[in-house]
Amino acid sequence: MSDSERISKLVRPLIAGLKPYSSARDEYNATREAMVFLDANENPFESDVNRYPDPHQRQLRQLIASLRGVADNKLMLGNGSDDLLDLLFRVFCEPYSDQVICLPPTFAMYKVLSQMNGVGLKEIPLDAGWQPDVDAILKASGPDTKILFLCSPNNPTGQCLDEERVLELLRNFPGLVVIDEAYVEFAENPGFAKYLDQYENLIITQTLSKAYGLAGIRLGVCMAHPQVIAYMRRAKLPYNINWLTQQRALDVLQNPGKLREEVALIQTERMRMGRELSRCPFIVKVFPSDANFLLVEVDDAALRYRQMLDLGVVVRNTSGYLRLQNTLRFTIGKPEENDRVLEILASLTEKSTL
Ligand SMILES: *Cc1c(COP(=O)(O)O)cnc(C)c1O
Repeated sequence: MSDSERISKLVRPLIAGLKPYSSARDEYNATREAMVFLDANENPFESDVNRYPDPHQRQLRQLIASLRGVADNKLMLGNGSDDLLDLLFRVFCEPYSDQVICLPPTFAMYKVLSQMNGVGLKEIPLDAGWQPDVDAILKASGPDTKILFLCSPNNPTGQCLDEERVLELLRNFPGLVVIDEAYVEFAENPGFAKYLDQYENLIITQTLSKAYGLAGIRLGVCMAHPQVIAYMRRAKLPYNINWLTQQRALDVLQNPGKLREEVALIQTERMRMGRELSRCPFIVKVFPSDANFLLVEVDDAALRYRQMLDLGVVVRNTSGYLRLQNTLRFTIGKPEENDRVLEILASLTEKSTL
């Protein structure tokens, strides 16, 4: 069976038979200066945004594909990576019959999306070192388990997944393996994109929301086998990436120096905060991190969360996640913000020893 045939067996029949909506701007976008456009019922008086945006995002997609070193038929963009994850459910999972697997404690969106899409979820906990339990995952999988969601570096635990275990899953999992790399820029390990040519079932999602500092524009990136991308493109809404987003992303991506500097500073601050937080008497443990946050175990998470909030610092109370009782997640801030956090923690420590 060819790679494309294997993918075709996973897609929902509904999507395989779908003819995509052809929008007015599908054909003529590239030459818009020279032509009179009376095809899309737009307002003809020029402003930056009176025309519909390019539904194929050609310029932006080509730039991102070249930066990532993949062919542009292996890449699609979404309104944030949440949008792409949702699209994967709608393209590959038949409601009330198919299932997906995720590995808690992990990003809560996989569960929310499975519920919203009426798709069963099997949760196979990460092991004690926050790594996938390969045997348990494979034992829980079958022809109806369409997607396995991996998150590396994982949110909220912070660590990259073990490469050998992920490769074993890519070789043996019967469905698609999504690796959510929202934090990949903060890790030493360059991530799994280099395996795209080797495994037709590998799907990588990335985002401009974290390292790139563009959470407000909503832009997610999905890289996969061209057949997977072709199915996803059939099901996407025509103008899913707005013009303002495309322009802003082009500007930022053409200036990679800022990203490198900011990521390096965040990594340095992550090291400093890890060191300082572990000295705090009510912090029991600081977990190692490949991301832009630190997960810490404290004596009483609800108490410490509220004390910090009262002093003007919001962290995430992650105690509700599986096996993360009494944990808090600290995003790494600017150096002066981190200083402030450390001062506040020191003040709480003084009070608690009185
Ligand atoms: C923040 C985050 C995202 C980003 O989602 P966007 O919709 O692109 O903003 C994706 N996955 C994980 C694990 C995250 O923590």
